[in-house]
Amino acid sequence: MNIVLLGIQGSGKGTLVASLEKELEFDLISTGQLLRDEVATGSALGRHIKEVQTSGNLVELDTVLKTIQKKLKTSKSKNYVFDGFPRNLEQAKEMEKICDVDLVVCLNLTQEVALKRLLNRLTCSKCGNVFSKLRVKSNVCPICKGKLEQRYDDTPEGIAKRFEEYFRQTHPLIEFYKAKHLLIEVDANRSPEEVAEDVLRAINERNNKK
Ligand code: AMP
Repeated sequence: MNIVLLGIQGSGKGTLVASLEKELEFDLISTGQLLRDEVATGSALGRHIKEVQTSGNLVELDTVLKTIQKKLKTSKSKNYVFDGFPRNLEQAKEMEKICDVDLVVCLNLTQEVALKRLLNRLTCSKCGNVFSKLRVKSNVCPICKGKLEQRYDDTPEGIAKRFEEYFRQTHPLIEFYKAKHLLIEVDANRSPEEVAEDVLRAINERNNKK
């Protein structure tokens, strides 16, 4: 089963993935994280990606597709969760050449709440789990003891540009997948447990229909 996660930055896609990982077996394709992994290598490509990510723009399609193909080549899973891909209609059409999509989950959250969440977001540099500055008391990950850091693109300017790109490029995907009867919308302004419960129910319903 292949699941696509949609939703404005800060709507809790990463947190949802962490909840789903406790219940389901799948490989995660998080294009943002895969691109940050390339940044961490210090390569020339990584330096370029960091520059694009910091500006809040989208990385070139060719680079994104190569990154996904590389990940899929080394994976033997039958189930995938895509976080951050596709990001626009062009990418959604490219995705149709790579694999089928069984379910699209859109996490609904207002821009105001998303902004507050992003400005307080800390990510573990080791395990990738996401926390709020308002909830953790130090910069040590409560799960793996890795270092909690603010993402280099979580600046007010970077976030504003990413929101703009989200509404311009990614938001139209909601109608695209609605027309294909693949979309479920979930209220993301609730606890991670409540959000995950709704999504797991929808996944089970889809599996029962297959
Ligand atoms: P994310 O971790 O999903 O918030 O993505 C962080 C940044 O990585 C984005 O602002 C883009 O610069 C880049 N990125 C992630 N996924 C994609 C994608 N599918 N296409 C183009 N750029 C992407």
